Amino acid sequence: MSSSLKKADGGVPRLFERYVPVDHARVSFHSGFWKSWSQTVRDVTIPTQHKRLGEEGFLEVLDFDRPPGPLARPIQPSGLSMQHFFDSDFGKWIEAASYTLKVDPDPDLEAKIDAIVEKLERGQMADGYLNSWFIRREPEKRWTNLRDLHEMYSMGHLLEGAIAYFEATGKRRFLDVMIRAVDHIIDTFGTEPGKLRGYDAHEEIELALVKLYRVTGDPRHLDLATYFVDERGRMPSYFDEEARRRGEDPADYVYKTYAYSQAHMPVREQTQVVGHAVRAMYLFSAMADLACENQDPGLKAACDRLFDNLTGRQLYVTGGLGPSASNEGFTREFDLPNETAYAETCAAIALGFWAHRMAQIDLDGKFTDALETVLFNGALSGLSRDGEHYFYENVLESHGQNRRWKWHYCPCCPTNIARFITSLGQYFYSARGSDIAVHLYGANVAELEVEGRFVRLRQETAYPWEGDVRLSLGLSAPASLTLRLRNPGWCRNTRVWVNGQEIDCAVSTEKGYIAIAREWADGDEIRLSFDMPVERLYAHPAVGEDAHRVAFKRGPVVYCVEETDIGTEPQRLRMSREALIEPRFEDGLLGGAVVLEGEAMEADAEDWAGTLYRGAPPRLKPKAFKAIPYHLWANRDRGAMQVWLLEE
Ligand SMILES: [Zn+2]
Repeated sequence: MSSSLKKADGGVPRLFERYVPVDHARVSFHSGFWKSWSQTVRDVTIPTQHKRLGEEGFLEVLDFDRPPGPLARPIQPSGLSMQHFFDSDFGKWIEAASYTLKVDPDPDLEAKIDAIVEKLERGQMADGYLNSWFIRREPEKRWTNLRDLHEMYSMGHLLEGAIAYFEATGKRRFLDVMIRAVDHIIDTFGTEPGKLRGYDAHEEIELALVKLYRVTGDPRHLDLATYFVDERGRMPSYFDEEARRRGEDPADYVYKTYAYSQAHMPVREQTQVVGHAVRAMYLFSAMADLACENQDPGLKAACDRLFDNLTGRQLYVTGGLGPSASNEGFTREFDLPNETAYAETCAAIALGFWAHRMAQIDLDGKFTDALETVLFNGALSGLSRDGEHYFYENVLESHGQNRRWKWHYCPCCPTNIARFITSLGQYFYSARGSDIAVHLYGANVAELEVEGRFVRLRQETAYPWEGDVRLSLGLSAPASLTLRLRNPGWCRNTRVWVNGQEIDCAVSTEKGYIAIAREWADGDEIRLSFDMPVERLYAHPAVGEDAHRVAFKRGPVVYCVEETDIGTEPQRLRMSREALIEPRFEDGLLGGAVVLEGEAMEADAEDWAGTLYRGAPPRLKPKAFKAIPYHLWANRDRGAMQVWLLEE
């Protein structure tokens, strides 16, 4: 679609009018859940990640004046070494660090970024090309294998880093470097004669280009993103053509199907989420952005279909996605194994990116519910409570074999969770005209600019541990505004009071948001009460892995049982349908958290000595039950863990 449709003519209603997220730096987590996590990420995660990037040789790739050293990570059968995309990791680190810089200026941190930027600028080729692997190791192979080598994926992450750094500091140097790199890509790829009609198999640059367009306003940046998305999956495949140019048989492709990269058919025709999970989520994020920027209902419809397919058939209860290690992604629908769940941290985060974008163009609580689920569960589980250990795979069951690691062979996840949490404020609120949408709950103070005036919002709450929220407004003068408050999909009983007077939620709720339009005055207060009982969840019968199993959830938080709390493997537990399970706040648990307690039964092994099979089932004996939030697992003694518990 041409960029000429981008701007509506005066008075012509636009199909998609986007809510604009608040600047993350205008949201301050003054207490509570996110204060603790964001401080940890700022004070521990960001500095230790820089250290690891140095120790592990990631930053050495920028020493363009020296010949490259031996490969630390060998070439895989696909032709890819993890070192091909080292640029992406420090790109994401710069992005995360920039988000903290915008809130808390730190000259040392800024100097570390400047040092990287200086080297990148020095290494950039005269034509604007910038990818450290190809410049230093294989300059002759530039743009010869978009199918396997992540060339534009890396550049996309550098671009996102450059945008964040520019927005944090106002310094243009890195941004200008990356704009030159984008100019080079524009000169190289497209439908015009003489250009390559290619696109990268690992999506990422598409969403980065939309971000760039929103900074520069340059339609060429939007057009390039549009081109990449529309070109994807066109047959005959560019990847086949490219393989033949390399003298290879396209049939020798390691992953066998271009569904691995969502390039098996045009994106608008796709109805099932397939392939590599992170790639899919980055692509769909870009599609949501482009649906809005280009006023393109076809792309929005594709996003809607794919979102419903994902959340209705392919998503773990934790918000994890992509069950299989072999393709780092999807298999068949309803295939959600627990112990072998791949559920990469990056994939959950990227679902958060996509769901957030969808909610801005279509204010529907189903999108924000998904964002909230990954936030409190399948994404946050990727980071240890101490802020310097990680999970790549987020299994839902373990016999104790899973341990958090300090750094990974393929460390895409650590910097991703860092940038997610350091920019978290932007996910809480957004504004459109005189509407303010409140998407997430948690103690914070925010300042939004709405139609030229400042609106201060303060949330006092112990969310997610309690369901009561006091939201107060600070205004310099009375203002007519519509507040749209998300009514979480998990909540069955919501009550809302405005200045002490209860309103009828049923009347004012539309697609999961409670709309309150009125003249607001300084000091007005909304009280929200989200009933937060312990919930039992059951999986669709097609999810064989979860048959006869129950999971516990309270509010947005999914629970798991760890061996360290109950002294036995949770796989031995048998939950009774009627057992009373109650919440209790445990101050001493990893910074304080609500745990669930009650009675369970345990399959007794005592009279099974020397017997593997017998004619009578095990005896059951009472066992004290305790579950902790899933995101906190594997932070204490090593042991077994289970989310889906057997129910008798
Ligand atoms: Zn990852």
